Amino acid sequence: MSRSTESPSSFADWQRIATCDLCGSVDFEVVADSDRDGKPLRTVLCEGCGFVFTNPRPTTQQIEEFYRREYRVAYKGAWAPKPQHLWRSALVAAERCSRLRPFLREGSRHLDLGSGGGELLWMLRRLGVDARGIEPNEGYGRFAAESLLLPVEVMTFQDLRLEPQSLDSASLFHVAEHLEHPLQALRLLAEALKPGGWLMVEVPHAEATCVFPASRWHLAHLVHFNGPALEHACRSVGLEPQPAWLSPDGGNVAVLARRPAQGDLPALQRQPLPGNAAKVRQTLEGHSVLSHLLTRHPYVRPVERLLRRLREREQLAKTREPMALLEAAFATLERQV
Ligand SMILES: [Zn+2]
Repeated sequence: MSRSTESPSSFADWQRIATCDLCGSVDFEVVADSDRDGKPLRTVLCEGCGFVFTNPRPTTQQIEEFYRREYRVAYKGAWAPKPQHLWRSALVAAERCSRLRPFLREGSRHLDLGSGGGELLWMLRRLGVDARGIEPNEGYGRFAAESLLLPVEVMTFQDLRLEPQSLDSASLFHVAEHLEHPLQALRLLAEALKPGGWLMVEVPHAEATCVFPASRWHLAHLVHFNGPALEHACRSVGLEPQPAWLSPDGGNVAVLARRPAQGDLPALQRQPLPGNAAKVRQTLEGHSVLSHLLTRHPYVRPVERLLRRLREREQLAKTREPMALLEAAFATLERQV
């Protein structure tokens, strides 16, 4: 691995990150110089805490333009989620809902940031939770608000203002990895939680070995957490995390963190996390194309995908109506209880 953090000329107009957002360290090690398509993209590992992030990265304006452009492409094919997309998201939402359920009660106030097509919100509201959403993608946000009649505001995270101690719980599913300053976002949510309130965060796992090594990095993901870094981020903003857990294939990592039931939220802290950089480095260095080919993942994943598609076709043959699909996915949640 190279020790240099100097930007190649193609990154000339990108912003160089001088200090780690998580621990304030200035010592980074380059772990990759290209993205999944072979385009230049430098990814670094913070030696102070094991946080992994794009550096240099596009400016805030360039990131916003990137998303606008990406969204326009997405709109051409699917301004709103198609039935198969809704069904896939609804099954994922049912799993997330079952994770959140023990921490929710009827009438409690929940905010889902990055609520997508609204599938999770719909299920939480079906359970009697006063769940609301924020979604930056206009197509999906409007679909949730207009077709599913859900309380979703279409806005970017940067514009979000939350009343302190107004929420019983909040969730951030596959959002934090897109944020320039995830700690700032977590702090905003921590402040918005009532004492004793819960936050659930899930992101792609920085140490995932279920994907090809070269597929790990791409421009849309600005930051990468492993379990210890995610727990550390929660502690840094004053929350008390439970141990982080991995999805069955190790591709995602999630954590539940609670705002202390007593007292004011402590000040935001940026502290090192000894040993975590070595842990992440060891995993990344050990994950070669050859080692990947010797695992079950490259062979099992296509079969699992095929089986999912077959079950999906069976379901969509019964109905393609959004509400009916949500009800069917919700029934899988009821069976999990
Ligand atoms: Zn750091």
